[in-house]
Amino acid sequence: MGEPILKAEHIKKIYNEGGDNETEALKDISLQINAGDFVAIMGPSGSGKSTLINILSTLDRATKGKLFIRGEQVSRMSAHELANFRNKNLGYIFQNSILISNMDVYHNIATPLVLKKCPKAEIRKKVMALAEGLGIENLMNHQINQCSGGQVQRVAIARALITQPHLLVADEPTGALDSKRSHELMQLLTQLNDNGTTIILVTHDNMIASYAKKLLYIHDGLIHDEIVCGDLSQYEFFNKIVELNAGDYISQFFRK
Ligand code: ADP
Repeated sequence: MGEPILKAEHIKKIYNEGGDNETEALKDISLQINAGDFVAIMGPSGSGKSTLINILSTLDRATKGKLFIRGEQVSRMSAHELANFRNKNLGYIFQNSILISNMDVYHNIATPLVLKKCPKAEIRKKVMALAEGLGIENLMNHQINQCSGGQVQRVAIARALITQPHLLVADEPTGALDSKRSHELMQLLTQLNDNGTTIILVTHDNMIASYAKKLLYIHDGLIHDEIVCGDLSQYEFFNKIVELNAGDYISQFFRK
C-alpha cells in the first residue's frame, strides 16, 4: 500500500444552509486514498457524487469535516494558498474540459508551465515527452477546434498531467466520447496509473468503473459500499459492480 495522498474525515456538505431549500448533500464521509490508488465513485443520480469530487479536489469546501492532501489540511487554506496548492498537486479532467479553442495544441498543454514561469526549453521537453506518450505529437500546431473529440480529450489529459500532479481527478471524463474512444481513454488512464499516477474518478458507467482498482458506492450522501478489484479480472469486477448497482436500484423500490 502506498503512502496516504488524501484523507477525508467526516465530510458534511449542506447547500443553502438555513434556507428554504436546504439540502444535506453529504452526511458523513470519511475515506483515504493512497499513492497508486485508482478509485471510482458511483451512485444514483443525486447521491452526492459531484459534490464529493468537488470537495475532494478542493474546488468546493465542505460545511464540516477535514480534508488532508499530502498531509496538509487544505480545508484550512485561504483561497490564494489553495490555488497554489492545486497547481502543485492536482490535475483535472472533466467531461468538457475547457481548452483554449483558438490556441494551438502545444500552447494549450504548455499553459500551466508558462504560468509557473518555467524555462522555455524545459517546457518544450516536457510537452513533447508527454505528447509522444499520448500519441498526439503530430498535432502540436493544430488549433483545438481542428481536433476530434478523442484528440481534444488527450490534449486535456496532457494539460492535466504536465505539472506532474500527485492526484488526477476525473469527473465523467468519457461523457463526451463514443464507446471506442471511452475505452481508449480508460486504457490510457490505466497506463498512467500503472506508471504511478493516483486517480480518482466519478462515473455512472459500470464498464468505465471496472477499469478502477476500487469502487466507492455513494447513496444519500453516505458511502454505502466499497468493493476492491484485487485479484479479480476486469470482467469479474465489472459483474460485481453491475450487481451492486442493480441491488441498490431494486432495493429503492422495495423501500418505498
Ligand atoms: P450526483 O452527482 O450524485 O448526481 P450531486 O452532488 O450533484 O449528486 O447532488 C447531491 C444533492 O445536492 C442533490 O440533492 C442536489 O440537488 C443537491 N445539490 C447539488 N448541487 C447543489 C447546489 N449548488 N445547490 C443546491 N443543491 C445542490
